[in-house]
Amino acid sequence: MRALPLDFRESTGSQEPAWNDWRWQSRHAVTNLQALDKALTLTDAERIGASRAEAAGLPISITPYYLALCHPTDPACPIRRQCIPRAEEAIATKGDLRDPLGEEAHEVAPHLIQRYPDRVLLIATDRCGVYCRFCTRSRLVGDGGGARSMAALEPAFAWIEAHPEVHDVILSGGDPCLMSTERIARLLRRIRMIAHVDYVRLATRAPVTLPQRITAELCMAIRESHERTWVMTHFNHPKELTVEAQVACARLADAGLPVMNQTVLLRGVNDETETLEALFRGLVRSRVRPYYLLQMDPVGGSGHLRTRLCRGVELMAALQGRLSGIALPKFIVDTPGGLGKVPIGPNYVVSAKDGVTVLETFRGDYVEYYDPIEY
Ligand code: SF4
Repeated sequence: MRALPLDFRESTGSQEPAWNDWRWQSRHAVTNLQALDKALTLTDAERIGASRAEAAGLPISITPYYLALCHPTDPACPIRRQCIPRAEEAIATKGDLRDPLGEEAHEVAPHLIQRYPDRVLLIATDRCGVYCRFCTRSRLVGDGGGARSMAALEPAFAWIEAHPEVHDVILSGGDPCLMSTERIARLLRRIRMIAHVDYVRLATRAPVTLPQRITAELCMAIRESHERTWVMTHFNHPKELTVEAQVACARLADAGLPVMNQTVLLRGVNDETETLEALFRGLVRSRVRPYYLLQMDPVGGSGHLRTRLCRGVELMAALQGRLSGIALPKFIVDTPGGLGKVPIGPNYVVSAKDGVTVLETFRGDYVEYYDPIEY
């Protein structure tokens, strides 16, 4: 069993005067093997992975802040496993896909994806603070396109305007928080002009990998540009809940922006009950609702990070009753091909017959539940 921090008051605490400036963090992101080699003691597998990533495929980017969370010598560090390329990325696993959620097939306008009738996903940029080695969009993040201009996104807005059944726009990427505050505000204001869009979801990993970005000014600009914005973030391990990350979450919550978290289940990162329990408790303490635990998408080159489906079910069974409902996410499989999410979990129904259902509680007790008589 891996050791867990007992509290999350750890800070990366650098003496660098510009450390708290998100643009400095972004500009000084580590992007190549040479810089990685200086910062960490790399294994051969990591060195091979990094030189391959530099040459082709999903590039490397790690903010100095997130790099400081990596164990300098231990390749099993849960932060290292998320951001340092490994030789295993070259291994093809059965079922691997370049675009696991079929987003290209569901593109209804440039940069706009629709997989459900009432919601769309807008890809506003290809940039992220950290390129996660398990990214579903590894085919396009870091492709060099940068932030999409308003003119490039206008056909997407026009499409949404012409489809009143769309009530929810997910502003994604890449990470939209890598864009300037002015650009984020402009995008949100443009979406607010579409009357049938009820709310926006801003999908960002900045609270995790670049918490300096979540300034009071940014929170205020989001709130003023579209007051019905929900922030969807992506913490995967309790070690990510540093002082800086907690301040970022508090700023969002204090600005009246609900914050939800999607955790991806990752082999060797968070596939233990104690790790997930500590993460979900820490999130609720930071006023972030753990929303989904996602089975990793079968994106090419990430098989070494993927768990078997039954592991997620076992973890959900172990957490049921141990965590309150607000701390317990749904376990979700986003079906390959983009056909939609399927919630899965342990089966608590032992039998159902003649109006009597036998349920199994989290303690393993069997309880009979009687249906009402038909009126
Ligand atoms: S922050 Fe999100 S979009 Fe960017 S690499 Fe990580 S998972 Fe992919």
